[in-house]
Order: sequence, then structure tokens, then C-alpha cells
Amino acid sequence: MSTRRTRQREAILRVLKRTTAHPTADWLYDEVRKEIPNISKGTVYRNLNFLRQTGEILELNPDGTVTRYDGRQENHYHFSCEKCGRVFDVDEPVSLELDRRLAQKTGFQVKRHTLEFSGLCRDCQKERKSTFPAKSVQAPSRAGD
Ligand code: ZN
Ligand code: MN
Repeated sequence: MSTRRTRQREAILRVLKRTTAHPTADWLYDEVRKEIPNISKGTVYRNLNFLRQTGEILELNPDGTVTRYDGRQENHYHFSCEKCGRVFDVDEPVSLELDRRLAQKTGFQVKRHTLEFSGLCRDCQKERKSTFPAKSVQAPSRAGD
């Protein structure tokens, strides 16, 4: 492995570890380019793949479309917003009891589990509330409610 490759990989990892926003590969590419202007998109993708395989980063794909990355290595839970697509870490202890229970029931060797909550984030709930008066004006026939 050349030092150039190592330097690129370290820059990607550094950028990913300083955010808790679970960014996409494109976002990471834009950020890493500020440090290494001539880095290619392919290099970023290849390195993300490598880092995922070595377990240094997590790949998240909650809605099955956009892949997001997570630089936090220890197991933790996520909340994904159905509206804006953002993924948040949730401060909820990881249940080892769940792993134990499943292992007992099935005889499987359970190493970890992932848990993802979904719904509307705080920002998206606010947006929904603020559009409500406008909608009720459009429906004057329902004045009875
Ligand atoms: Zn949202
Ligand atoms: Mn996370």
C-alpha cells in the first residue's frame, strides 16, 4: 500500500469521524477534496468500501436508496427521518439481553444486532405544523371541526 493511498484513506476516515451526520459518499467526496483537491470520486468510493470491509466504518442504507456512512465503531442505534432522510444516533443503551435471548432460543452465535427507529425528526415535525393553518384556510367547508 502506497503512502498516497494511506493518506487518502486517512483523510476520508478523519472527515467521517468528525461528523455525526451519517453523510453520503458524495458529501464525503466534497469534504475530502478540500484537503486533497485531486482525489477522484472512484477513490473515495473504493476507500469507503475498504473501510467497511475492515469494520472501521458502518454502511447505513435505511430507505434502500441512499447509502450513508458512520464512523462510530461501537454498536449504537439509529433513528431515520422518513421526510428529510437524515439519520440520527439515538442515546439508547444497546440491549445485550436481546442478543442473549435470541442465542438461547435459536442456538445461533449472535455477535450483534442493529436497530433502527423511523418517523419524523424534530425539524420535520415543525414544518408539518407550520403548514397546517394554510391547509385549513384552503378547506373552509370543514368549518364545523
Ligand atoms: Zn426530518
Ligand atoms: Mn451512527
